Amino acid sequence: MFDKVLIANRGEIALRIHRACREMGIKTVAVHSTADAGAMHVRLADESVCIGPPATRDSYLNKVAIISAAVITGADAIHPGYGFLSENADFAHMVEEHGITWIGPSPDHIRLMGDKVTAKKAAVEVGLPVVPGSPGAVETLEEAHAVADTTGFPVLIKASAGGGGRGMKVANSRDELAEAWSTARAEALSAFGNAEVYMEKYLGNPRHIEIQILADNHGNVVHLGERDCSLQRRHQKVLEEAPSPALNSEERERIGDIATAAIRRLGYRNAGTIEFLYENGEFFFIEMNTRLQVEHPVTEAVTGLDLVREQLRIANGAPLGYSQSDVTFSGHAIECRINAEDPETFRPCPGQINDFHQPGGLGVRVDSGLFSGAKVPPHYDSMIAKLIVHGTSRNECLMRLRRALGEFVVGGIDTTIPLHRRLLEDNDFQNGAYDIRWLEEFLSRSR
Ligand code: ADP
Repeated sequence: MFDKVLIANRGEIALRIHRACREMGIKTVAVHSTADAGAMHVRLADESVCIGPPATRDSYLNKVAIISAAVITGADAIHPGYGFLSENADFAHMVEEHGITWIGPSPDHIRLMGDKVTAKKAAVEVGLPVVPGSPGAVETLEEAHAVADTTGFPVLIKASAGGGGRGMKVANSRDELAEAWSTARAEALSAFGNAEVYMEKYLGNPRHIEIQILADNHGNVVHLGERDCSLQRRHQKVLEEAPSPALNSEERERIGDIATAAIRRLGYRNAGTIEFLYENGEFFFIEMNTRLQVEHPVTEAVTGLDLVREQLRIANGAPLGYSQSDVTFSGHAIECRINAEDPETFRPCPGQINDFHQPGGLGVRVDSGLFSGAKVPPHYDSMIAKLIVHGTSRNECLMRLRRALGEFVVGGIDTTIPLHRRLLEDNDFQNGAYDIRWLEEFLSRSR
């Protein structure tokens, strides 16, 4: 096993990875910006290296500084977490060129799935059902019209280089297409430095269902079931659960088998997630994430597996050591993403935490780097904690979640805890009756 792992991330996920390493007897190196010098991931690591000023491009996205930190500290592997450089194929390649193990898939797979147009083509080749739309990039407005003629309206124009729910524009009719097409291209260029777009039928009321995969270097592939991530605001996930309240066992088994077969054909290794939209009993591939996901703890809760430990074992060359029939599922889990934001306006609310109490007890897990006195810097993503609750049934999970949210105290800044408390009191949510548009409607209703 590795002797020392450098964690190229910050916040809760850096801590999460540190914890898995510590349990396995692996030493950790934290990297941090000057804004994070007092952060928990830095305090708990065996060693730490300051890699630059607060701006992400100068620190957490600074490839040379991170590789230098790994070389100086003698780390034998790098775990990228999620976000930042986790889906940067050039960085993964650079890491390997320096004789350091990349804890993730091959740079080629990262590159293939990082561009949504090549990802969708690959998905079709390995037998995944995809959302009807353009076969590739849409270069001209005439082409856009031709695609819309085959799919019908509404259509969604998406950035090939998109991510994080950004770079999507809907056109409801022929009249709206020209403007949607040109704004989508302009926004894609400014956000991602690449104007290329593609088109999909805009599905009416789908759910977002994703399958967690693990694959080793010896051809063994398993899926760890689904997560339902339909509760979204501006195409960004707010709360996730496993299993999905919408799937029956036949559908669950079918999509698990389809995803596993696709991963095997791709020759993919390490952890990955295939994302689908699900509507009227049908699944449509939208993208694949070639890294650990924010919402991985709900899968850990229902399978009992430690996904980061599995990633480390796989990267080190170990075989999975279990087959699909050994993977068992127990109970129900829900994760609430807690952001440093005003719960009504969603305006970011960085600042200093002056009071902190996290819930505990049976079935409750909090992943967060927060403590009383911690600073939430303004430079990074506003997600500051994840509350994950597990119960024997969805109902027990909801009871426990209500209790845990009631105990949670984060003083000094605004957080989205009150939003989750409100959500839990809603009948539709309690019944699991929601799709990807439901949360925005709930927010406008309750405003
Ligand atoms: P990103 O990489 O930016 O997260 P995705 O392709 O994963 O983009 O889509 C994010 C979300 O946008 C989905 O979970 C879904 O809510 C919505 N979405 C994406 N494609 C479609 C579509 N064809 N029809 C309706 N909604 C969509």
